[in-house]
Amino acid sequence: MQYHLPMEQTRNKDNQFALLLKANNERVTSPRLIIFRQLLRGSPIPMAKLRVKSALDGVDTATVYRTIALFTRLGLVQEIGVGSRRLLELTDNFGSHHHHFWCTKCGKIVNFDDNHLEATLDALASRLDISIESHQLEISGICNACQ
Ligand SMILES: [Zn+2]
Ligand SMILES: [Zn+2]
Repeated sequence: MQYHLPMEQTRNKDNQFALLLKANNERVTSPRLIIFRQLLRGSPIPMAKLRVKSALDGVDTATVYRTIALFTRLGLVQEIGVGSRRLLELTDNFGSHHHHFWCTKCGKIVNFDDNHLEATLDALASRLDISIESHQLEISGICNACQ
């Protein structure tokens, strides 16, 4: 098995992953770990690409589908809509909270976070007297390279 992330970071996330599965009476299998690590790399990934990458590590398509269904049920993975594409990524429980910009010309996706944006939403919650549990924000436009 290959490690593409710094060991410490991988170990912490792996532990967190193992705990979540255990709490739900699910085992940490090798295919599950392989798929989790693919998602951990950060960029939202289409199912087709995840299947190809997992196949390289010996995980078949049916297992990828089953695993993603399980991860979704456990709140580990979410599907996001970027333009007409459906992409998979880790939820905020495992990734870090962020938003996406995608370029309508080249399709590039950039993850970003912004403290002012989050503070604005906090202020909004106060003003409306609501408690926000989650939010999504996707921005599209033309990237730097395509301008
Ligand atoms: Zn572009
Ligand atoms: Zn946000």
